[in-house]
Amino acid sequence: MRCATHPDVETNLRCGKCGKLICPKCQVQTPVGARCPDCARLYKLPTFRVSTKHYLRAVGTGLGAAIICGIAWGAISTVIPFLYLNLLLAPGVGYAIGELISLSVNRKRGTGLAVIAGIAMAISFLVTIFFFPRGISFFVSNILYLILDLAALALGIFIAVTRLR
Ligand SMILES: [Zn+2]
Ligand SMILES: [Zn+2]
Repeated sequence: MRCATHPDVETNLRCGKCGKLICPKCQVQTPVGARCPDCARLYKLPTFRVSTKHYLRAVGTGLGAAIICGIAWGAISTVIPFLYLNLLLAPGVGYAIGELISLSVNRKRGTGLAVIAGIAMAISFLVTIFFFPRGISFFVSNILYLILDLAALALGIFIAVTRLR
C-alpha cells in the first residue's frame, strides 16, 4: 500500500478520520491521533475555537484595560520622569492587558485574540500620550525618548500578543 500524497512511499498508516493512506512524511499528529493534512487542518483544539462572543468580550476587556492601564502608566511616568521607565512599564502593561483578555475569554487563544491584545496595547500607549502629553516638540527635540518609547511599545505589544497566541 502506498501513501495517497506520496506514491513513492509504502505505508500502512491511515488517517484516523477519513481513512486516507498517509505516511510519516505527511501525517499530522493531533491529540486524537494521526490525521491526513486535510483533516488536521479542519481539526482545531478547543483552546483555538473562538466564537464571536469571545471576540466581543476580548474587545471590551481589551479596551477597558487599555484605558485604565494607560492612565496608570501615564501617571507613573509623569511622577517619575526616568528616561528608561517606559521600557519597564510597557512590558508590565502588556502583560496585564494580555492576562486580562486571556481571563475574559477563558484562556482561549488565537490569532484574532492576539491582534486584539496588540491593538489594546497600542491604545494604552496612545492614552498615555493624550492624558499626559509631553508635547510634539519634546519628541522632536529628543529623538532618544521617541526611540525608547517605540521600543517600549513594541515590547509591550510582543508580551500582550504572546499571552494570546
Ligand atoms: Zn483524513
Ligand atoms: Zn505521504
